[in-house]
Formats: sequence, structure tokens, C-alpha cells
Amino acid sequence: MNAASSRRTQIPTTTDRKNTPMCQHQPPCPTADSADREAALPVAHHPEQGWSLLCNGVLLFEDTGELLPNGQIIAPHRPLGTSQVVRAA
Ligand SMILES: [Zn+2]
Repeated sequence: MNAASSRRTQIPTTTDRKNTPMCQHQPPCPTADSADREAALPVAHHPEQGWSLLCNGVLLFEDTGELLPNGQIIAPHRPLGTSQVVRAA
């Protein structure tokens, strides 16, 4: 009997959480300021450019460097091997 009201979409208003991404995954992806931020699902992947955009707004680069939504830069933390990329002369 309540078909009309059940059709209304409930939009949660989480105004007290400024950093809430528009994550619709279940379970929700870790936020950009959590330690396992890299576990968020990629929403855009550009291997030819060497980066992925995660659901929480983190830009994850091929070399494991990260750029957080607040502009903070995380240095690469996984060694690429013994020979660092050969720089073009
Ligand atoms: Zn997500």
C-alpha cells in the first residue's frame, strides 16, 4: 500500500563527514586517509599514463606513489627492483 513512499530515494546526509567520497561499493572502500587506502576499488585506470584513480579519490601511480585528494603526495614505497629505471640520456 505504501508503494509511493517506498519509491522515494533516501539520500543520506552525512554533513559531518567532509571526506566522504561517493562510494557505493559494499563494503565501502577505505577512505583516503586510512592506512589501506590502496584497497579502494579503481574507478579509472590509465596504464598508458601510469596511474589509477581509486574510488576514494586517491591517485595511485604505477611506482606506488600516491596523490591524495587533499593534495598530499605519498612517495613510492615499493622498490621497483635493483635497477632503477634507466634514465634517458
Ligand atoms: Zn568505493
